[in-house]
Amino acid sequence: MKKPISLIIDDPAPRVFVYYEHAAKRVTDDGRPLLNAVPNSFLLDFCAVMERFGLRGKFSVVPMPGGRGDIVHGIPGFPDSEIREWLDTVRTRVAKQFSICPEMLTHAQAVDIAGGGFLDVNEKVWASTQNASTLTPYIAKALALLRDAGLEASGVTSPWDFGIEVESEYVRAISDAILQVYGRKDCWYFLRSRRHVPNALPWVALSEGDRHVVSVPATASDHFWQTMHTTDTSAAYISRIADSLITADGSSGEIIDIIAGGGWPILIAHWQSLFSNGLGTGLKVLAEVAARIEAHLSDRFEWMSGEEIMRLVLKDPERYPMPDFSD
Ligand SMILES: [Zn+2]
Repeated sequence: MKKPISLIIDDPAPRVFVYYEHAAKRVTDDGRPLLNAVPNSFLLDFCAVMERFGLRGKFSVVPMPGGRGDIVHGIPGFPDSEIREWLDTVRTRVAKQFSICPEMLTHAQAVDIAGGGFLDVNEKVWASTQNASTLTPYIAKALALLRDAGLEASGVTSPWDFGIEVESEYVRAISDAILQVYGRKDCWYFLRSRRHVPNALPWVALSEGDRHVVSVPATASDHFWQTMHTTDTSAAYISRIADSLITADGSSGEIIDIIAGGGWPILIAHWQSLFSNGLGTGLKVLAEVAARIEAHLSDRFEWMSGEEIMRLVLKDPERYPMPDFSD
C-alpha cells in the first residue's frame, strides 16, 4: 500500500487577504506594500495546479476574515457575487480534493460570542486562557458559518498556535463542536508541526468510545513563504526554492529527509506564500514541487486529504500515539 503525502493550506478566505489583516507590518521585506485583497482568479490558478497534479490535503476557509464581515452575510467592500463565486469554486472544485475547515473565526481579533462585537485581544491570546466550555461555542460558530455557506468541514485549523496552552480542552471542544454542527464523531485538527524529527506522523489526540480526534501535523516547512518578499520570478529561482523540498533528481530535500526518517510528508503552504503578494511565484514553486513528487515518489506515495489521513490513522490507532511534547 502506498503511504500518504498531503498538503496543508492555511489562511485562504474569499477576497480578503487574511495575512494583510494580521501582519506585523504591511510591507514586504523588499519594501513593497502588501496587497489588501486577493482576486478570485488566484483561486482558479490554484485549482488548475491542484487538478493537474491531483494534490490533496486540507484547505482553510477563514469564516470572518479579519473581522470584516462573514462568508454567509457578506463582507463589506466586496460584492456578494464575488464572495459567492469564490465559495462556489471551493465547494465544487477544491472540496473534491481537499478537506475543508475553518481557521477559527477571524484570524485576527477574538469575537465576543456572548456579548457580540470583538474583544481587545487576538484569537491566539484569547484561546490561551479558555477551556472546553468556552472554546466549544467559538469553534461551533466557525463551523456553522461554513455549513451555512454550503461547505462541509471535517476538521479545524488553529490560527497561529490557537489553543496550544490548553490543548486537551481544545481537542475536546473541537470534538463537541463538530458533533453539534455536522453530527460527525470523528474529526481532525491542525495545530502543531513535527519538523526535523524522525517518525513524523499524525497521532490520535482523543479516543473515547466512538469519538476520535486525530492531530494532523505539518512535517515540512513552508519554503514558499519567502516568495512573498522578492520580485524574482525566474525559473532558476523557482527551481531553487523547490529544491529545499525536493531536488529535480529526487535525491534530496526536506521531503526526502522526512521519508528517510520514517515519516509522512505533510507539506504546508499559506495562501500568502502561494499568492506571493500578487506574483503567484509560490504557486509556481508548488507546481514544480508537485511535478517532482509525481516523477520520483508516485510509485510509493499517494496524495491524501486531511480526512483520508484521519481515516487511515483510525484504522490502526495504536500505531499513532501522541508524541511527548513535555520538553
Ligand atoms: Zn493561519
